[in-house]
Amino acid sequence: MSLESETKIFDTIIIGGGQAGLSVGYFMKRTHLDYVILDNQAKPGGAWLHTWDSLNLFSPSKYSSLSGWQMPTTQDQYPTKAELLNYLSEYEKRYDFPIVRNISVIQVSKKNDVFVIETNNGDYLCKSVVSATGTAMAPYIPEHPNSDVFKGKQIHSIDYKNTDDLSNKKVLIVGAGNSGAQILAEVSKVTTTKWVTSEPPIFLPEHIDGRYLFVQANDSYFKKEDEYTHNISLSNIVQIESVKEGLKNGIYKDYRPFKAFYDQDVIWSDDSKESFDLVIWCTGFRPNLRHLEQLGITHDNRIKTESTRSISKPGLWLVGYGNWTGFASATIYGVGKTAKHTVEEIIIYFNKNYTQQGV
Ligand code: FAD
Repeated sequence: MSLESETKIFDTIIIGGGQAGLSVGYFMKRTHLDYVILDNQAKPGGAWLHTWDSLNLFSPSKYSSLSGWQMPTTQDQYPTKAELLNYLSEYEKRYDFPIVRNISVIQVSKKNDVFVIETNNGDYLCKSVVSATGTAMAPYIPEHPNSDVFKGKQIHSIDYKNTDDLSNKKVLIVGAGNSGAQILAEVSKVTTTKWVTSEPPIFLPEHIDGRYLFVQANDSYFKKEDEYTHNISLSNIVQIESVKEGLKNGIYKDYRPFKAFYDQDVIWSDDSKESFDLVIWCTGFRPNLRHLEQLGITHDNRIKTESTRSISKPGLWLVGYGNWTGFASATIYGVGKTAKHTVEEIIIYFNKNYTQQGV
């Protein structure tokens, strides 16, 4: 850390340099506020750096874009992980955001009106904080009896990369969302698989993909169409090519959850046992809010907000964690709206509390 950052009090510190942090950064750049983005990764991309290699987005390029610069048209309709990483990297360069990498925020506290951001490389100080740390660092695995003594291997989807080393392994894939369906599509090509979902999975019709989520956000789609009566949700499965192929090949037979683990087996609801070498939990994530615990405002993995603004801790905003911080804010296209609104609120906060800023 430089000597300057030891003594300097930033107007705003954005914690997290994924798409949500960049999106807030884009709107911060249009203000006179002095801000910095702290990110614990070594390079651009946030959570996308850690997804499996063959991942395809479920939103076409135009609907996988951040504010200000549209993602260049991709080779196929749905961008690959590599194309998205390249886009995020170019986006950072284009807007020249002040990002400090390899900085892990350990805890945030507030002394008088100043936030102290404790990191693995010294303290940073600021007058306001935007937490945009995503969910990928808080993978969720539901509890099952005897899970700790299961002799097979268990991983979360965030740790699944590709099918290397999986041939001849019997794999149980758990989770009815896009991750489960996409991972099953490729793992079932090399080995025996079984798919567990708590409810029957919902495959969206072929022509429905990520873009409709955003139309839904504006509440216009359902007014025009009477074809679907249920809400389209991020947890429903988009038919990208690998999923379409899987459906054609009949791989998507779903089983209801097992009761417990036993030795190297799972015990099904009829008490029969079946052996697996590997369980891949595609069971989602929780908001990664560990660094805010000392503020004493986290309850059940949530912080009470009005839109993105913390209700009980003035000067703190939370962006990109899910619908509770703005509809579709945990998507690339959807985060722009809440990021813009957040920066508008930060400006109001500074005008009210720090009139000398003149923002
Ligand atoms: P992240 O990308 O996780 O960024 C947060 C950053 O903060 C990371 O760099 C992280 O390392 C860093 N960080 C965390 N904690 C700290 C700390 N204490 N100190 C410093 N830095 C920290 N959305 C779409 O729009 N289209 C899709 O097709 C799509 N597909 C998806 C597929 C999968 C498998 C998943 C899991 C999600 C998908 N999403 C999709 C949803 C969403 O776009 C991503 O989850 C996205 O990565 C969220 O961005 P973020 O910036 O909020 O979080």
